[in-house]
Amino acid sequence: MLLTDIGANLAHESFAEDLDAVLERADAAGVSRLIVTGSDLASSRAAIDIARAHPGRCHATAGLHPHHAEDWDEPLAGLMRRAASGGDIVAIGEAGLDFFRDISPRAAQERVFAAQLEIACEHGLPVFLHQREAHARFLPILRDYLPDLPRAVVHCFTDDGDALDAYLAEDLHIGITGWICDERRGAELHDIVDRIPDDRLMIETDCPYLMPRTIRPKPRTRRNEPANLPWVLQTVAEARGQSPEAVAAHTHANAARFFGLTDAG
Ligand SMILES: [Zn+2]
Repeated sequence: MLLTDIGANLAHESFAEDLDAVLERADAAGVSRLIVTGSDLASSRAAIDIARAHPGRCHATAGLHPHHAEDWDEPLAGLMRRAASGGDIVAIGEAGLDFFRDISPRAAQERVFAAQLEIACEHGLPVFLHQREAHARFLPILRDYLPDLPRAVVHCFTDDGDALDAYLAEDLHIGITGWICDERRGAELHDIVDRIPDDRLMIETDCPYLMPRTIRPKPRTRRNEPANLPWVLQTVAEARGQSPEAVAAHTHANAARFFGLTDAG
């Protein structure tokens, strides 16, 4: 059983000391491919470096998380364009809107979201999207670009059934994290995850965040890592009434198609 973790923040400082061991544990757990998330200039650069150091295994994205929208500048836009042209990244993002934490002004978030969608369209790259408590603005902005975007995934989907239905109606892909393993805040997601068609579902850890609460024995660390992806798989499979093997096969194949990965793995 092979898995792809489509959201691994391996450029996060918490992985700086032991990345090789983290990747070895991922491999042992069947997580054969990782999409390393870029969420600002430094982490996008680092994600590209990690992908170069682990060809065929790690692939990078480059983008600016809405929390950092005020950091949008020409060096980052330039890096994204060069990386896209040079084949150094497999998607633009993480990009989107976060009105839950509202760390950056909403107007800046919206402007920077659109600017990144524009770059993805120019280069024909898929987008890796973040939306939290911002569905009402997110979809209208995204819709303007969808005709020119090859594919889009709403990563770490945590919204309600109406938002899910709206995304599926636009033919978006949906990324599910360990949020679904949380018996309280993940309860609604658990109930609606079976609405996602087999060919639109992908799974992710969003590590080092979102440690699955179903892990037994309970981990001693709070740092989540790609090797924990099978716990997400397990809960998603149960909630969908499918076997873990079937969900693994679908999500792994979807990730390969979505990110345009042709290498073995
Ligand atoms: Zn996110």
